[in-house]
Amino acid sequence: DRTSVLIAGAGPAGLVLGNLLRAAGIETLILERGTREQVQARARAGFLGANSARVLTEYGLGAGMLRDGSTHGTCAFRDEDGEFTLRYDRLGRGEQHTVYPQQRLVSDLVAEYLARGGELRFGVTITDVDADTASVRYREDQGRTGQVDARFLAGCDGSNGVTRQAVPAPARCARDHGISWLAVLAEAPPSMPAVTYALHERGFAGHMARSPQVTRYYLQVPPGDEAKSWSDERIWTELAVRMRTGEFGALRQGPVTERRIVRLRSDVVDTLRHGRLFLVGDAASLISPSAAKGANLAIMAAEVLAAALVDALKRDDERGLAAYSRTCLPRIWRAQEFSHWMIGLLHDQGGAEPFGSALRRTRLGNLRESRAHQDFFAENYVGI
Ligand code: FAD
Repeated sequence: DRTSVLIAGAGPAGLVLGNLLRAAGIETLILERGTREQVQARARAGFLGANSARVLTEYGLGAGMLRDGSTHGTCAFRDEDGEFTLRYDRLGRGEQHTVYPQQRLVSDLVAEYLARGGELRFGVTITDVDADTASVRYREDQGRTGQVDARFLAGCDGSNGVTRQAVPAPARCARDHGISWLAVLAEAPPSMPAVTYALHERGFAGHMARSPQVTRYYLQVPPGDEAKSWSDERIWTELAVRMRTGEFGALRQGPVTERRIVRLRSDVVDTLRHGRLFLVGDAASLISPSAAKGANLAIMAAEVLAAALVDALKRDDERGLAAYSRTCLPRIWRAQEFSHWMIGLLHDQGGAEPFGSALRRTRLGNLRESRAHQDFFAENYVGI
């Protein structure tokens, strides 16, 4: 088979890229390992920054988000010194989030990509990537194998995908933050009007609305803990302690529909182009979910790469492709730096060690009291 742009993976990165290329009339083929049902059910991100909302709206991909998403401009912090809220939409650049669950966004993007005449094959795993000749080998779920030759390859297959393995290992740098979260989705209405970060000597707990019926919670758990050791009852009891419900009011409980351990890890591939392969989204850089940046970075990079590919394929101008790494990496590193700062804000690093918890408490105190710290937070929290 032949195509102009072969896209590995139908997550937010691959689907935004595919839609933008189809809008410019470019021939594309997306190969996706999962089934359509699987990719459309994967609940991960929810918070879209101002720039992501702009891209989706500008390119005709935002109808669902505009109809069913909600905007958020406030977050709250709780610790032993009480609670305070930040109206971040009135701080920094005055931007707000749009909350729209990732699985809804992915479903919209699949439908729109197909409506734009894009080709998308589910149940196809890419097994080999040749970055120099822009060709891939694949295996279908039924066992049939094949090859696709393309003018360009877009590696949008996430942090465990195969395309980043085509980039030599020294180009990668990684950090394991030594912290794990239990990520929970509950069929329960949000308990608070805002995203709430609770800091507690037993560990961090987070509350994030996903929709009027569904709420995401996070609980910091010891590294190595298993999701199955967390029953519904244990989750709600621990959340109540860390969210200090005695002081601030009870949580609205409901059945836990998903629980999984997320290790806070980050990595960056420092050359996003290799031959005719370009890495996008989590394939380019895995970012810990502490600042909710991953899907946003994916959408931003997809916009940059789409413009560069259109120039290359329609006008024979490869300057955008030559600059792709240079254009994307500073934004990736700014997001990584802020995510790392958030990890320090939300956790006692060094366990029960008093120095670490005093630093954490002081950082939060700065955010509570200093307008300069609040502006820094707001600018980085929504923008990238
Ligand atoms: P993915 O979504 O991982 O998509 C990659 C696709 O490639 C998958 O569909 C996969 O099946 C496919 N694939 C993999 N290997 C192959 C192969 N060999 N052949 C073919 N297909 C393949 N980000 C935010 O911006 N805001 C948030 O609020 C947020 N919350 C999060 C909460 C959690 C619990 C987690 C885990 C992540 C969160 N993120 C958030 C991060 C966000 O979900 C990811 O950054 C985002 O999904 C990255 O998109 P992607 O398209 O690059 O990769």
